[in-house]
Amino acid sequence: MAGAVIARAEVRRAGLRWPFPARMAERLTGARVERLRRRSKYILADLSTGETLLIHLGMSGRMLISGTMLGEFHHDHPAPEKHDHVVLHMDTGARITFNDARRFGAMDLFPTGEDDAHPLLARLGPEPLGNAFNERHLVAALAGRNTPIKAALLDQHIVAGLGNIYVCEVLHRAGISPRRKAGRIAAARAAALVPIIRDVLGEAIASGGSSLRDYRQASGELGYFQHAFRVYGREGAACATPDCTGTIRRIVQSGRSSFYCPRCQR
Ligand SMILES: [Zn+2]
Repeated sequence: MAGAVIARAEVRRAGLRWPFPARMAERLTGARVERLRRRSKYILADLSTGETLLIHLGMSGRMLISGTMLGEFHHDHPAPEKHDHVVLHMDTGARITFNDARRFGAMDLFPTGEDDAHPLLARLGPEPLGNAFNERHLVAALAGRNTPIKAALLDQHIVAGLGNIYVCEVLHRAGISPRRKAGRIAAARAAALVPIIRDVLGEAIASGGSSLRDYRQASGELGYFQHAFRVYGREGAACATPDCTGTIRRIVQSGRSSFYCPRCQR
């Protein structure tokens, strides 16, 4: 998409999770994609029209590329399907289709350069793999918090882009119970979470991410990181920590499953 012009935008329904912005097809048509970037879980396309297209894949959304040979990301996706909601016909001959069976995805348009004013982007914490996410930031963000560490690490205002699975894995490697109050974790232990978070995310990216049910990677393949989970989804299994004789337990915190070892996570 980068550098290409949206020759025609086909908007096949009024919205997904939320209504699409007014006249979306008209505002996209003729726009050149100047730059593609990402913030947290949002894909952002800065357009030549002075607007930025925000795309969120939600639970099951996919961006399918077809119509021209584009190497490994090419999909054979000739005819519009039931769940194809937006089709961008690029001037290069490529067709970018937003397909989303569950319709939890989203698209919006906002003035370029005003990320911080957008309700979905404002107040997001630093990227976990960026320089702004460091020991000092995390220790300060957790200090005095009365919420469980599990909820604090899922809070996108503290760190943007850590999901339920990865928080479970991170806390297991750190030996910290998901129920422990964030503000009751010693600074040195809190600081040690930073390199663990980077390691877990780095390994997940290297192995193609995790797949839950119908989620697919850009290449259409399922992710493989779930084969490396140490606690997530392993209720009743023996703990993977060397010399630990504990059994993985599942509890529900804020409506989400937490998997942990009560023996080595304190
Ligand atoms: Zn254990």
